[in-house]
Amino acid sequence: MRSASASKVTARERALKTLFCEPPQAQDTASAIKSYVLDHLRTLLIELEAQCLSNGIQVHWANNAEDANQIIVDLCKESAKPGDVIVKAKSMATEEIHLNHHLDEAGFETVETDLGEFVVQIDHDTPSHIVTPIIHKTRKEIAASFSREELGPYTEEPKELTMQARAHLRKKFREAKIGISGVNFAIASTGHLVLVENEGNNRFCTTAPDVHIALMGIEKVLPTPAELPLFLPLLAASATGQLLTTYVHFIKSPRQERETDGPKAIHLVILDNGRTNVLQGPFREILKCIRCGACLNVCPIYRQASGHAYGHVYSGPLGEVLAPALEGVESFGDLAKASTLCGACQEVCPVKIPIPELLLEIRHRANSPSTSEKLAWTSFAQASQHPLVWKFGLKLLPLAPMARHPFLTSWLKRRTLPTRVGRDFRGWWNERS
Ligand code: SF4
Repeated sequence: MRSASASKVTARERALKTLFCEPPQAQDTASAIKSYVLDHLRTLLIELEAQCLSNGIQVHWANNAEDANQIIVDLCKESAKPGDVIVKAKSMATEEIHLNHHLDEAGFETVETDLGEFVVQIDHDTPSHIVTPIIHKTRKEIAASFSREELGPYTEEPKELTMQARAHLRKKFREAKIGISGVNFAIASTGHLVLVENEGNNRFCTTAPDVHIALMGIEKVLPTPAELPLFLPLLAASATGQLLTTYVHFIKSPRQERETDGPKAIHLVILDNGRTNVLQGPFREILKCIRCGACLNVCPIYRQASGHAYGHVYSGPLGEVLAPALEGVESFGDLAKASTLCGACQEVCPVKIPIPELLLEIRHRANSPSTSEKLAWTSFAQASQHPLVWKFGLKLLPLAPMARHPFLTSWLKRRTLPTRVGRDFRGWWNERS
């Protein structure tokens, strides 16, 4: 985890320096454009809807996750029957609404086609990073999973493993009735859906099946294509250290009369799911996020804890703000404590989201500490003001692991108290002088 994240941080710096004379200036400009988008979100979304409709893309509005799942499942039922294959490209929005679960319940065979997401799916795991979902897995673990699923002879060679997945997924692309994807950027003035990827699976999902369903959060809209020359390289560099992703797709309309391939119908589902509330509140800036994952890679807590520890689809500094912003400070406010407030996340963020500031605001609003926590901190504060009590407390410290206080018991469920190594400092100091 640590070395994978660290190598991404280095690659990001290198790519940004190659791409821009003044990377911070590019970040400032991107942030200003995103501010404009948030200020004019309603108008831009209406414009996007009108353009999409005139291009032949059908538009659906989903107020929440339940609506979005219902819309997508209904669309799938119109064009496929239970047991049919639905291929999916990587999309955090679909993870957010737990779409796979709903498609499975409706009887479809949903197949993740991004290599990382595919491994997550066959392992019944969850992604631990928003860009590289299996950053927590070793090639040995992946080899074991592929062998268990009988995708081919056992191998630990990344290239051969990829070829096994490729052969398996090609069959699924041919069979699929419907392809589902996310959207990286949607252009209001032209109605283009812009998707970036490295593996080519996105292209298959959006081209091979007869129906393409795209799900996007309301904040993914950009005013015009003129913003893309800034956002595309900025996203690629921040996410993977590339100058540009291998593929950039511009989807404007379903298959036209003169064309021989492409989907016959495209549906765009625009998801709110709490974003309008966030827009009007103190955490509005987090809606500028372009899901690059740079803040995860640079975060000392994320690197140590990994994405699963956050208990939410969105992890790292992004998740510490977005999860409580979308789902309530009462439910996920504690995540804001998983930060050293070192500011590295804000520094690398391509749209300059003031994450530490937002974390402080969440901490301020989060539930007040429990009585046992209050008691512990009050005792600590009192003891630290009275040298005699402090010294006595230090003498008792070795007994702490034996304490049976409910606060400590639950706290120690997932932690081991360090034992003192060597002698105490005060004793050593007194003897020395
Ligand atoms: S908060 Fe910024 S750095 Fe983190 S994922 Fe979003 S855009 Fe990237």
